[in-house]
Amino acid sequence: MKRLLLATHNHHKLQEVQEILKPLAIEVVGAEECGLADVEEVGQTFEENALLKARFGFQQTGLATLADDSGLCIRALNDAPGLFSARFAAKNGGYPTVFDVIESSLKGQADRSAYFRCCLAFVNEKGDSFVFNGTVEGEIVSQPEGLGAFGYDPIFRPQGYEHTFGVLPSDVKHRLSHRGRALAAFVAFLEKN
Ligand code: IMP
Repeated sequence: MKRLLLATHNHHKLQEVQEILKPLAIEVVGAEECGLADVEEVGQTFEENALLKARFGFQQTGLATLADDSGLCIRALNDAPGLFSARFAAKNGGYPTVFDVIESSLKGQADRSAYFRCCLAFVNEKGDSFVFNGTVEGEIVSQPEGLGAFGYDPIFRPQGYEHTFGVLPSDVKHRLSHRGRALAAFVAFLEKN
């Protein structure tokens, strides 16, 4: 495999995946570059949505395709916004306004634990599909750090660290993150197959 489509229009995801997969000498191209339309995320789980996006990308381009479905799950909010993380931010004024909405919802809650989840679906050149998962545990901070970073990164502090993903160096985030872990499983799979 020389070329891999990452079926996303999210340039933060594309950049992260390109950085993490750099040692593999595979060209990772995004949805925009391939003129790929957006898919409606009608799945009920991260896995269903990731598979939907990966299968669509493969059908449209014939390229081996990887798709990421991911989100932030906050335990005190019954794992919301979870699958709806992107839509929740859009409905609540975007970033950073949505951080204030989350902070208000967490008022008086002792439990500020949260985790990011990533499900990666891969469809190979033959059309076979495979799924890889990753999670990272952490906490929601009340003072965002690194405004302007990707999505909810400014309010998520990974376990064992003093700062949020919004300000931690990208190599640290890649090593720890839900996406980094799911991609490590994907790379291990490629090495064996
Ligand atoms: P998706 O495109 O439906 O998978 O939406 C994923 C959404 O989850 C993103 O738009 C962000 O809101 C959030 N998200 C996923 N991964 C990250 C991350 O690494 N940092 C910050 N936010 C993330």
